[in-house]
Amino acid sequence: MNLNELNKMTKSLGSTDKMPVLFLGHGSPMNAIEENEFVAGFRNVGKEIEKPNAILCISAHWETKGTFVTAMENPRTIHDFGGFPKELFEVQYPALGSPELAKETKRIITKTEIGLDDKWGLDHGAWSVIRHMYPDTDVPVVQLSLDYSKSPQFHYELAKELASLRQKGVLIVGSGNMVHNLRKVAWDKLNEVDYAYDWAKEASEKMKEFITKGDHQPLINYSTQGRAFELAIPTPEHYLPLLYTLALKEEKEEVNLFNDKAVGGSITMTSLKTGGV
Ligand code: ZN
Repeated sequence: MNLNELNKMTKSLGSTDKMPVLFLGHGSPMNAIEENEFVAGFRNVGKEIEKPNAILCISAHWETKGTFVTAMENPRTIHDFGGFPKELFEVQYPALGSPELAKETKRIITKTEIGLDDKWGLDHGAWSVIRHMYPDTDVPVVQLSLDYSKSPQFHYELAKELASLRQKGVLIVGSGNMVHNLRKVAWDKLNEVDYAYDWAKEASEKMKEFITKGDHQPLINYSTQGRAFELAIPTPEHYLPLLYTLALKEEKEEVNLFNDKAVGGSITMTSLKTGGV
């Protein structure tokens, strides 16, 4: 690293108070352009937090073999969905990337080799929520992928290695949904506030109990938690970002839940903030 690069890094990722860590339940891509209570929740949490130097987002929508971090200067806005109105496809979120943060992420993780990616960008798991927090696109955003070949325990341990970024002004955001079963969505109940199937309610309550107690092992071993969890987590990708957020919670840090409501019976928007002010 030459002196110029070092100066740049010191400036952009300087030492700061410990940033909080978030898990955001992103739900439907339409939340990117709709005005509703969940969007208000994302906006509020953005206002509560001191403006970060950069964001590192672990999104449900970037699964890879091996672990990668986006390292380009200008990540493209990826419209990774179908069947939505034109207006949604027209949304651009031209936040800068941060090659510095990508390199720093690669440097601090020892559990696995991190690949520097120049092809991905920002998927809707990232931009649909971050655009409400930082509408002026004035915070660089980097994504870290989910290695689909690895165990929940692996993800939890890898996440712990990101801890030092919290003191470099980096806001780490897990973006998924705690309860997420698209096949079971009650399409006729989408407008019924907080409508949840019994199993969704049961899984959500148990998850929140473990989260508030700081008892993470049963959440890591979610596949042994019975039928309600099986239905709530039919595939791991929307749930795993939660483990990243929880792994970064320090013992004495509190957890604040928000957007704690169900949508369409089988999805919960429950989000959390831990640490920070
Ligand atoms: Zn999603």
